[in-house]
This record gives sequence, C-alpha cells and structure tokens, in this order.
Amino acid sequence: MNQLVSPFEVYVRIRPLTEKEINNSSNDLSHYLKQDPSSSEILFKEPGTSQFKKYTFNGVFPENITNLQVYTLTVKKLVQFIKEGYNSTCFAYGCTGSGKTHTMFGHMNSKDNEPGNVIHALQECLELIQNNENSKLKLSYLEIYNEKVADLLSAGDPRNLMIIEDFQKGIQVPGLSEFEIVNLKDAYNLVIEGNQKRVKAPTSANELSTRSHAILQFTLEQKISSGEVLSSKLSLIDLAGSERGSASENNSQRMVEGANINRSLLALGNCINILSGEKKRACHVPYRDSKLTRLLKDSLGGNTRTIMIACISKSFTAYEETLNTLRYAQRAS
Ligand code: ADP
Ligand code: MG
Repeated sequence: MNQLVSPFEVYVRIRPLTEKEINNSSNDLSHYLKQDPSSSEILFKEPGTSQFKKYTFNGVFPENITNLQVYTLTVKKLVQFIKEGYNSTCFAYGCTGSGKTHTMFGHMNSKDNEPGNVIHALQECLELIQNNENSKLKLSYLEIYNEKVADLLSAGDPRNLMIIEDFQKGIQVPGLSEFEIVNLKDAYNLVIEGNQKRVKAPTSANELSTRSHAILQFTLEQKISSGEVLSSKLSLIDLAGSERGSASENNSQRMVEGANINRSLLALGNCINILSGEKKRACHVPYRDSKLTRLLKDSLGGNTRTIMIACISKSFTAYEETLNTLRYAQRAS
C-alpha cells in the first residue's frame, strides 16, 4: 500500500486538450509548460521572461493518466486512513474547465465513462462495511455558495445551515441530511441528485461555471471491542472555480460570488500554509475566515490527512489561471 509521507500532499493533474481545443493549434501550452512524466516537477515559463521556473509537488499526473490511477495514488490512501479512525480530506482546486469535476466525479450519467474519486471511494468504503458487521457508512452532501451552507440532499430547500463545533463530535451542521449507505446504486443516485441541485450560473465567458464548493462527506462508524463507536470522516470536495472575476464582469451578483470564492480559497490556502509549515505550533490557524475552513476545522491539520489535487489544462487560453494554480499549489506544499 502507498503510505502518505506527510499530513499534506499536493498533486497536479494536467488535463489533455479537448477536441475543440486541438483544432485550434494556437491553443497548445507546450512551449510554456514542460513536464517530464517521470518527475514530480513542472517547469513553467513565467510571464515576460524566457526563464522557466520550477514547481515541485508530491506528484504530477500527466495527461494520459486515468481517474482510477489518480484514485489509487490519492484518495485510496485516505480511505485506509479513515478506516484507522482519522478524518481526511481531498479537494480538487483549479479554474473552471481545468478538470476538477472530471477528477472528483467523472461523468456520472453516461455509460462509457470513467468514474472519479467519489465513486471509487464509495466502492471501497462499502467493501469496508461489508467486511465488518459492526460498522456503518453515512453520506451527506452540501454546498457552500456565497458563504452560505446548503444541504444538497434535502427534500426541502434549506439554504443557510449553521456550522457548530461540538466538544465531542467535532464540527457539526445541524439539520443536514445524512443517509446510511448500504449499496453503491443508492449512493450513486444520491450523488447525482445532489449534483443536480448545485448552483450553476453562466460566467462572463458564457459557459456554465460552478460557483459553489461541493462537499461530500462519508462518515464511517466502527464499533470497537470496548463497545465505543469510532467515527471518522472523509471529505471529498469539488471547489468552486478559482478564476478571478474579470473587470468586464458587470453583473453585481457574479462579482459578489467571485469575491466570496476568492475569500474562501484564500482562507483555505492560508490554513494549509500554516498547518503544513514548520511554524505550525506557534501560529494561529485562521479557520474562522471562511465557511469552508470552518467546516473543515476537524479535517485539516491535527491528526488528519489532506490531499490537494490542483487541476490545470494544456490550453493556452488558461495560461494566467494555470500560473495562479501552480503558485497556489506550491504555496500549499
Ligand atoms: P471543471 O470542473 O474544473 O470546471 P471539468 O471537469 O468539467 O472542469 O472538465 C472540463 C472538460 O474537460 C470536460 O469536458 C471534461 O470532460 C474534460 N476533461 C477534464 N479532465 C479530463 C481528463 N483528464 N481527460 C479527458 N477529459 C477531461
Ligand atoms: Mg466543475
């Protein structure tokens, strides 16, 4: 089994050009981005220079790697970790169109698809409970949109749930629906139902962009020999697009969304930076700076494991965003 080497691991995944992008040869970023598939480094040509800067991560997944391979090298390790009773988190970071949803969910609705981290993790968690009759698996699914927590699996439409910290149970969201999972089909249907409820809005580029953070949490409850219940959480997160709102965005709602997204991604980066740094004991970790970090307080730092998958594309049109993502990921690692 692959062991996690540190509480935080950062991977970069490069997505291939789509068919539409291939037809436009000026779209290729190859002259700016160099990656030797056997290394965990990316060389990236900085703006206005002919120099390549080196970015180093725990691993880089080149274009031809499959979702199953990504799972095996990332979330699979976290599933082992929750089995041992510890919380863990994996999030996909990147601009809209960089491959976050493909990595976390795959194509959920078609048959000739590649399931993503969520489905592979569900499968493996279900195997865990099938092999241990004293265990239960529960699933909840929420989104944070404009700094408000919404339940994606509720029959009603609660859009502003609270996040509280319970001394014994850790972080809780009172009123959030939670479903016990016994088979993959039911779980799959819940995830699809939740995905359909996510907030989507046209961006200035006139495409559908995801403006919310989607957070799927599996809770594994294992009764241990003393009769106590060991409870651990795996959080799988498809973050909102990290692109900055452009000056041409004249829609005030989009600008408020953008400001909230930037704020929570910045807060997440700041927390990780402190937790993964050498000074972690001395520094205050600013969990309270956003709903996202507040929710993850018991799943980031301490005795937990976190994996970030920073997604980038090989399309030249995303040059600026790719650079921002590499910088963000480097800072976290
Ligand atoms: P995001 O969620 O970051 O906005 P998506 O996951 O929706 O991005 O990906 C954008 C497009 O690129 C989609 O059409 C998706 O199918 C495709 N895509 C993303 N990653 C890959 C990959 N590794 N291999 C093939 N196609 C991909
Ligand atoms: Mg997406």
